[in-house]
Amino acid sequence: MKLIKAVRGTKDIFGEESQKYDFIIKTAQDFFSRYGYTSIKTPIFEETELFKRGVGEGTDIVEKEMYSFVDRGDREITLRPEGTAPVVRCYLENKIYTKEEVSRFFYFGSMFRYERPQAGRQREFNQIGVEVLGESSPTLDAEIISMGYNFLKKLGLKDLEVRINSVGDRETRTRYRSRLVDFLMPIKEELCDDCKIRIEKNPLRVLDCKNENCKEKTKDAPVIIDSLSDEERKHYETVKKYLSLFDIDFKEDARLVRGLDYYSSTVYEIVTNKLGAQGTVLGGGRYDNLLKQLGDKDIPAFGFAAGVERIMMLLEEYPKVGTDIYIAWLGEETKDTAFKIANGLRLEGKSVIIEYENRSLKSHMKKADKINVKYVLILGEDELQKGKILLKNFTDRTQEEISVVEIYDRFI
Ligand code: ATP
Ligand code: MG
Repeated sequence: MKLIKAVRGTKDIFGEESQKYDFIIKTAQDFFSRYGYTSIKTPIFEETELFKRGVGEGTDIVEKEMYSFVDRGDREITLRPEGTAPVVRCYLENKIYTKEEVSRFFYFGSMFRYERPQAGRQREFNQIGVEVLGESSPTLDAEIISMGYNFLKKLGLKDLEVRINSVGDRETRTRYRSRLVDFLMPIKEELCDDCKIRIEKNPLRVLDCKNENCKEKTKDAPVIIDSLSDEERKHYETVKKYLSLFDIDFKEDARLVRGLDYYSSTVYEIVTNKLGAQGTVLGGGRYDNLLKQLGDKDIPAFGFAAGVERIMMLLEEYPKVGTDIYIAWLGEETKDTAFKIANGLRLEGKSVIIEYENRSLKSHMKKADKINVKYVLILGEDELQKGKILLKNFTDRTQEEISVVEIYDRFI
């Protein structure tokens, strides 16, 4: 019989990997809540139009990476390729802006993009993201950048580099666009096929191309920072000032444009040199135009998303989930008491492993060793008759006989 396998580009998460995953999510939850973020959950699929309008028609995501289909009710549906447009849709639809001045959301979950699978690049992958809506201060930009960076540091990630840039607003980009196209047109034929199309549709994306030849050919391209308005420049300078105040080392990267159209003003990435071409661990920026684009509202916003699989690849240490107590029962007569004790301890908050079938003492000990347990309780027929149980400390290997009624005092 042919075994059915996970679809190309998807990955199961179990065992140690799932302990890493849980640790990363929990750390994010704890850390972001210190800054006032609360969690938000939006549907896995949305109307296709949301991403076309939100992420942008000329982007790789919309052009070639979306999982789109028509459902049984003839609706055009897309599995979410990113989390920002859905959060903004929810914010606008529920008129959250009428309830609070500034909203701070945090989310995690699967995203879907039809890309070429490789290490650190999947078709279904997980992101942790944050979005802040209703605040235009550059101090916020710096605060979020520092929050994301410190989150990765808290997880023990090393050798991270923060890269920042400003891409200005739409007017600035239109001005810059023509300067860039003037530079690109004469070298068009030397660029990759994707970039040839990008020059027509969305020339800024050429700067984001992963192709080494394109990077080399465009290394002297004009930079957007020279086209910023005075106000944008001031915003950018303030972001940098506060990054220094928060002790964040950063590198200015004039070519950083990010792969999504909704960004304006500050953009940034946190990168590692350990994952090759998949080196961006976290990316984000300001998107003051998106709420206008999706809901005709002048509400500023800032957010980032981090790739959980990439963080997992870099994570060296994480707390191993252990078991408190293993109960070894010997002989059918002891089974009921052993299970009563197990369930009692679990109700009191202890983690307990117990076998369903009778086993030899040797086989119990082997099992307890394997699961890295702290204590073993051994219940034999003789002990049961005396109302006693053997308590073995698996850390220092000492043991003592205690009475069954004493168990709770010992552990709770
Ligand atoms: P890249 O340049 O690596 O394609 P991106 O600019 O498309 O990344 P974003 O859309 O900003 O990435 O997503 C934020 C983060 O999500 C990335 O920095 C990365 O860590 C992660 N990510 C993006 N696409 C994938 C993928 N296909 N598989 C795994 N992680 C991904
Ligand atoms: Mg991408």
